[in-house]
Amino acid sequence: MKSVIFLAPPAAGKGTYSKFLEDKYGYQHISTGDLLREKALTDESVKRRLQSGMLFSDDEVMTLFKERLAKYPHHTLFVFDGIPRTLNQAQIMDTFLPKDYIVIYLDVQKDVLLERVLGRIICPKCHRSYHEVFANFKPKIANVCDNCGVSLEKRVDDKEETFLKRYEEYIAKTEPLLDYYQNKGKLFLLKNEDVALEELESLIGGANDN
Ligand SMILES: [Zn+2]
Repeated sequence: MKSVIFLAPPAAGKGTYSKFLEDKYGYQHISTGDLLREKALTDESVKRRLQSGMLFSDDEVMTLFKERLAKYPHHTLFVFDGIPRTLNQAQIMDTFLPKDYIVIYLDVQKDVLLERVLGRIICPKCHRSYHEVFANFKPKIANVCDNCGVSLEKRVDDKEETFLKRYEEYIAKTEPLLDYYQNKGKLFLLKNEDVALEELESLIGGANDN
């Protein structure tokens, strides 16, 4: 089986796919945010910079990332979430990443993502996410968490303007990565949501393992 790099615009469902790989196949989930927060526990300067919203250089992020990977047995399967963010990071990663990973691009239309973001409601207690409009994701009682019975809330950053800004940033940064991985023969697209989990399994080599 193969480690997976997800490239996905905001709200494309990356969390759902990652969770699936973790639960079913024991993948380790690694994100830049987690790495930095973890480092901040023992490193005052990282903590200060994280709190003030300063950016970290590609070299810094990749050094942390490499250190972290070295802690796992070599056969560990990873889901990389938000890594790499830039072409430079992707090139650095290829100097130490095992060769048999794949890159999965979640190709979801902008208007679909926007509709998702605008209807998203979240339980402040258990963090389960629901949707106001989509039948499969509505809570049983309007605006109340099925698990906890508390009122659901919108996330402050789930606004059209914020989404569009993030989306545009994402597209600008990701396009060079798509080309890079396409040229290496590592890029796969997931589109159809109904069959996407099966497709994902066949891409990582899970469903076909005998
Ligand atoms: Zn809840």
